[in-house]
Amino acid sequence: MILITGGAGYIGAHVALELMNQGDDVLILDNLCNSYRSTLDRIATLTGRRPGFVLGDVRNRALLDTIFADYPIEAVIHCAGLKAVGESVREPLRYYDTNVGGTVTLCQAMAHAGVFTLLFSSSATVYGDCLTMPIDETCATGQPTNPYGQSKLMAENVMKSMVCSDERWSVGLLRYFNPIGAHRSGLLGEAPTSTPNNLLPYLLQVASGQRAALSVFGRDYETPDGTGVRDYIHVMDLAEGHVKALDALRHQHGVHVWNLGTGMGYSVLEVVRAFEKVSGISVPLVFEGRRAGDIARCWADPEKALSELGWSARRSLERMLADAWRWECHLHEAKAVPLVS
Ligand code: NAD
Ligand code: UDP
Repeated sequence: MILITGGAGYIGAHVALELMNQGDDVLILDNLCNSYRSTLDRIATLTGRRPGFVLGDVRNRALLDTIFADYPIEAVIHCAGLKAVGESVREPLRYYDTNVGGTVTLCQAMAHAGVFTLLFSSSATVYGDCLTMPIDETCATGQPTNPYGQSKLMAENVMKSMVCSDERWSVGLLRYFNPIGAHRSGLLGEAPTSTPNNLLPYLLQVASGQRAALSVFGRDYETPDGTGVRDYIHVMDLAEGHVKALDALRHQHGVHVWNLGTGMGYSVLEVVRAFEKVSGISVPLVFEGRRAGDIARCWADPEKALSELGWSARRSLERMLADAWRWECHLHEAKAVPLVS
């Protein structure tokens, strides 16, 4: 059985779905601070099975001890965390407490229970403002410009030290680039509980009429059209990457870092134009100044994951946007778009 912390959230739920579809038993631990219980019903509808669920906090050591005593957990995928960059600037202690403290507590409980296989949701933000593209795993980690990024880097360093001190651990640090999209059924996707910060969920809310216009942050970057370039990756490709990484960890000890990205960069305007083409909906834009802490460009070299895990992202930007739009339409009972093969 695989324990997924934060498994009711956007990424964790898609990972749960993928694992269950390949026959694994999954137990989700989530305090639902940024997700909904109904996600469990959605996973059950799509897989025909219900994941186990414990409502609780990953910082609760006593609860973790009970979970490891009660369930035959063989590995943990640690997705639980807080992820809003702006909020992390306003409430840094809450971010360090959850993202770093939660990781420490989880690792302590795992070691106590004799469970030494762990996959961690890290982020490309740990690279900071890297000068050369694409970014491979040997690129130095930078100085993340906000507490969220710092907390991810600190959590990575905690786990690296831990692995150095005890060779029984098998730890995978998965550095996600920009996950977007949804399950192609349109029944599972990202469901923001408050105003979204990220490009895609905000764009979807503009397209579905919940918000007036999309702010484009900066049009004077050194990129082909002046807007920020990112490596957007389909959440189902990301989920498949977790399954491959977990398989790899079953056969090797130590700490392993893998970028999960496509290797392709798209600008904000390219994403908007591609979305308009896929959905047939025009997205009103407002050009604004650069967002504090943003970098101009960021895309992965995904070669290491390909050679070591046999994984690469398969789904196109159009597919990501079509799937995301179908999910948004489902959420708002609007007109669905046809499947893109
Ligand atoms: P999400 O907010 O949808 O999911 C996180 C889940 O963790 C939520 O269900 C939330 O309720 C839960 N959670 C938060 N604090 C908890 C706690 N103390 N105890 C138990 N559960 C808790 O976010 P996501 O997009 O699915 O991200 C998952 C992980 O991936 C996070 O750690 C995030 O930092 C990381 N990540 C996300 C992105 C992205 O763009 N979505 C990019 C890079 C890294
Ligand atoms: N962005 C934007 N408007 C928004 C949200 C984001 O123009 O409402 C831009 C942002 O400046 C960046 C890109 O979209 O260039 C991706 O931003 P996001 O917050 O989704 O991801 P991250 O900053 O973590 O790469």
